[in-house]
Amino acid sequence: MTFELSDRVQTVPPSGIRRFFEIAEERDDVISLGVGEPDFATPWAARDAAITSLEQGKTSYTANRGKRALREAIADYVADRFDLGYGADEEIIVTAGASEAVDLAFRAFVDPGDTVAIAQPAYISYEPGVIFAGGDVLPVPTKEEDEFRLTAEALEAAGAADADVLVLCYPNNPTGAIMPAEDLEPVAAFAREHDLTVLSDEIYAELTYDGEHTSIATLPGMRERTIVFNGFSKAHAMTGLRLGYALGPADAIGAMNKIHQYTMLSAPTTAQHAALEALDSCDDDVREMVAQYDRRRQFVLSRFREIGMDVFEAKGAFYCFPEVPEGFTAEEFAEAVLREQGVAVVPGDVFGEGGAGHLRISYATGLEDLRRALDRIEAFVEEHT
Ligand code: PMP
Repeated sequence: MTFELSDRVQTVPPSGIRRFFEIAEERDDVISLGVGEPDFATPWAARDAAITSLEQGKTSYTANRGKRALREAIADYVADRFDLGYGADEEIIVTAGASEAVDLAFRAFVDPGDTVAIAQPAYISYEPGVIFAGGDVLPVPTKEEDEFRLTAEALEAAGAADADVLVLCYPNNPTGAIMPAEDLEPVAAFAREHDLTVLSDEIYAELTYDGEHTSIATLPGMRERTIVFNGFSKAHAMTGLRLGYALGPADAIGAMNKIHQYTMLSAPTTAQHAALEALDSCDDDVREMVAQYDRRRQFVLSRFREIGMDVFEAKGAFYCFPEVPEGFTAEEFAEAVLREQGVAVVPGDVFGEGGAGHLRISYATGLEDLRRALDRIEAFVEEHT
């Protein structure tokens, strides 16, 4: 007997990068610049708090929306760091990673047939998430000449005026682009004018190397139509602990909680203890990691320029997005540099429109490995161009 799969599941193609993992397994000296995951260990104080909570037997469910003390700490943190005012009682939900929060939002705000505009290149999970929720995806390509920032013109040209929901992510995975306040304003105006719900994935907010991160939710008239996602995976190096959160108006967060309370019950309890400590006492660890990412960013950008590959000045997250040399598609380059030099990178096409001809390079890897990987890329480019 074969299972009858739902149309929604069948519609989503398999991940475009699985093939590369298979090639990578054929060599034992691969340096991966492919993964979007910090190479740092979770700050010790956060791990210690998790261990202590286990020793004390704190292994029950928490409140559906997360431990109250954690929601209060999140409210203080986002107010202090990003000028975002959200109440711990009704306007914050703690989730199993930002991933769960994004999924809850799609299910809470998207009806079958609704259109969800996604600024692309984009994190690979949004599009499947929209399809699983029954919505239709409208890609909104951003351009390198605009520093991969979303513009009102791009929204207009893509037909996003008729969309129901807009998804954006700055600092951006995969380009490393950021959106300063003056560039967010026309996007916010477009959302207000066309009555769009805005889903703003700000998981890389702390990893902003040029100025301060601005949340679109802080712009006039935006709080009431925006959900902000954030979490502990990136800045606090806690990917495996699976903890994130969403911020929004009470009715919207209430709707997300309705799904969460039946499907997840509560986010991982041990991780909530770790996260509380992370917010309480790990600012210095975060600052140190951010400083190291910034050093790596500058190193990687300057090496690509030395190699003669055009690369846009990434200013956030831990990615840069160079152009492949002429004569290659991104996929061909990524496959050949992996087979011949043992360096894993991700072709930009997998991130949607606007990504073709580029590679996503993650610098969430130690400087020594980055140095070796860039030397190998240089050897590859010298040989083939
Ligand atoms: N959003 C973006 C833009 C990401 O890059 C990632 C992780 N790669 C996530 C969300 C998921 O984060 P989490 O581990 O909190 O689920």
